[in-house]
Parts: sequence; C-alpha cells; structure tokens
Amino acid sequence: MISYQESLELIKTATDDFQLKFKYCDLDHLLGRVLAEPIYSPADLPGFDNSAMDGFAMKANPSDKLVQLSVLGNIAAGEVPQTEIGNGAIQIMTGAPVPIDCETVIPIENVQIETDQNDLPLTIQVQGPILADQNIRKAGQDVRQGELVFSAGQKLNAEHIMMLAALGVSQAQVLARPKISLISTGAELVDDANTPLQPGQIRNSNQPFLAASLQTWPVETTQVAGHPDTQEQFLELLQQEINDGAQIIISTGAVSMGDRDFVPAALLEIGANIVFHKCKIRPGKPVLFAVLPNGSLFFGLPGNPVSAAVGFSFFVEPILRQILNQKEPEMQMARLSKGFNKRAGFCLFAKAKVFMKDSECQIEVLNGQQSFRIAPLAEANCWAELPEDRAEIKAGELVKFHKFAGEL
Ligand code: AMP
Ligand code: MG
Repeated sequence: MISYQESLELIKTATDDFQLKFKYCDLDHLLGRVLAEPIYSPADLPGFDNSAMDGFAMKANPSDKLVQLSVLGNIAAGEVPQTEIGNGAIQIMTGAPVPIDCETVIPIENVQIETDQNDLPLTIQVQGPILADQNIRKAGQDVRQGELVFSAGQKLNAEHIMMLAALGVSQAQVLARPKISLISTGAELVDDANTPLQPGQIRNSNQPFLAASLQTWPVETTQVAGHPDTQEQFLELLQQEINDGAQIIISTGAVSMGDRDFVPAALLEIGANIVFHKCKIRPGKPVLFAVLPNGSLFFGLPGNPVSAAVGFSFFVEPILRQILNQKEPEMQMARLSKGFNKRAGFCLFAKAKVFMKDSECQIEVLNGQQSFRIAPLAEANCWAELPEDRAEIKAGELVKFHKFAGEL
C-alpha cells in the first residue's frame, strides 16, 4: 500500500492538466474568487490631495510666534475649493480637497477661533512654527495609477474588495468555479431531518458536511439526490452528473471491502483511470482517486463520517488548491500535551485541539478517535498528523497539525 505522500503526488500529477476557464465577474460577486489576471491600478489613490483632519488649511510659516489668520470660508468633503488661501486660512473637513496653494492643515483642536455673530470662524490664531505637509493625504500616496495592485492567483477577500472598489474596478477576470457533484452512497441514508428514521436507517451527515466545507471555496456544488447502493444505480447517477457538466465528483461510501462496495468496479466498468485505491492513513484508508474518461476528477471517500472528513481535508482540498492556484497552508507544529499511542504503519489524522498554554502552542489528541465518532470531531479544532512510522508519541514532542477551516 502507498503512503499518504505518495498518494498525494499521484493525484497532483494526474490533475496537472486540469484547467479552469476564465470568467468576468462583477465586484459584487468577486468575494472568494481567484484572479485570473493581474490588476493594475486605473487611478491614483487618493485621487487628489485632501485633508486628513477637520481643521484649517493654510500656508506654512517658519515663525515661532502666535500667528493670526483671517478665515476665508470653509470646505467639506465632496466640495471643490473656490478660492486660494493667499495669506488667510480656510476651514476644511476631513476628505475635502485642499486648495491649490495650501501647504498644510492644522487640526481644529490646535487653533484658537474667534467667531462672528453667526458663530462662524472669523479669524484663527495658531502657535508657530507652522510646518509644511501636515495632515495632507497626497494624491497617489496609497496606490499610483498603473501600479500592480494584485497578481493573478490572488484569492479575493473583503479587504481586496475594498481596494478594488476604492479604485473603481467594477469587474475582474477570475477562474471559473469548478462544478462539483456530491453523491452519497448507501441505502441506509435519510436526507430529510424531518423524516423519522425506520429501523436500520441513519441520517446523511456526510453530504451536508461536504457541502458546508465547500462553501468557503469558489466552486459550484450540487448535492445529488438519491442514495445509490448498487453498481448500476451508482453509474446511472454518475453518468447523469457527467452529462450535467460535473468536473469533480465526490462520492462517500462503498469503497472498502464489503459486498456493497461497488465504487471501484463501477469506475473500471466505465473505463476510468483509478490512480490509486487505499493508502496508509487512518482513518480513511480505502480512499480512492480516479480520472474519468471525460477528464473529470473522481474522489471516492469512505463512508464513515470522520473518514470522509479526512478524505476531504487531505485529498480533495489539496487538489482544489492546486487547480485554483492556491498555496498550501504553512506547516504548523505544536507540543503534544499528553502522550499518545497508535499503530505504526499508518499515518494517523487525529481529532485534536490546539491551544495556548504557558505562552506556547500545545496540542491534545482527543479521546474517541474511531471513525464513526462525530462528537470529538465537533469538539476538535484541528487534525494532528501523527507520522506513519511512529507507534508512540511522547508528551512534549512537536506534532504537525492542520487547523480546520474557519478556525482562528
Ligand atoms: P461504507 O463505506 O459504505 O461501508 O460506509 C461505512 C459507514 O459509514 C457505514 O456505517 C455507513 O452507514 C456510514 N455512512 C456511509 N455514508 C454515510 C453518510 N453519507 N453519512 C453518514 N454515515 C454514512
Ligand atoms: Mg455503504
């Protein structure tokens, strides 16, 4: 049986040619998408010199005396200065364009104001020296027109959307969302939470898990209805999804050694290239990856919920990263808080919790590692990756871990 690393290499090589189309998207739909082209700034940002403070715009003055200036008017954000300052001052609000001959802005709290009968500033007194270039945001100080803002491959978050909006970028070319179909095998499954279970039935928890996990990815997910439990039923659904344009198919169940584990045979029947079946991991050993005759990718994840979760994190997600040009997350290590024994010969992906203690990152492997146990999975915040060749990992040893998506 091959190791986890070998299986991953095999899938990565087999998906090397898999390419997504490009698509233009409006700003409103760019969140989470991956840029297919670099973005160069169409404009200076800020677009014009403007005030960073509520205060008074004036010329600089090296004198260290108290200076008195008459106030010529005022200007708010959105207005355009009508006069030059000359030897006076203009009251100015944050974001308002500074008059052309203005050299500096003094905040309102640093001047003494004398008002007229309408309570409007008439003159101000400022303690010199009045330094140049104070509290003025210069045109292009943040981003210059023509500057590279984002490279191709950038996954866009809300902060990137802010940048694009500020620059007036209304559209960008991004990678098209790959179409992913989720097929749940197993006649025992019930989808509808309001349907009472008959003897022997269980609720389908894998499909909602996979659909939820895929929500953070720029993909288009179809939750396929039905629970095929024969080769024939399975192939019928598989064919339907291929015909509907599925580029990636993820099935759960029916990949191990039981009578009803028909997925490998079904794939062979249609002439798929089974890149590997089974690797030295726990849970999830029977995981399978194939390339279908039309080029679509097929992940056969085992049915037990924790095995399906491992299959998603350690096989599906690395390949999604590859086809969406995203880097692997940086490796993280934590100190094991309690020793843990496992069988050698399998890499164990263990439900675990990382936490800070004594100013260091520690990790606890939780009780209840069996692949049917969801409660410790829901309590965990990461997978501990315990190496294939080890049977005992002692407290205090450094252990590799992978945070669950969405964990801070
Ligand atoms: P299988 O790999 O089909 O033999 O399934 C292994 C175990 O996982 C069995 O106990 C199944 O009932 C269970 N199982 C399979 N599919 C699901 C699913 N979608 N949700 C929850 N449990 C499942
Ligand atoms: Mg089954």
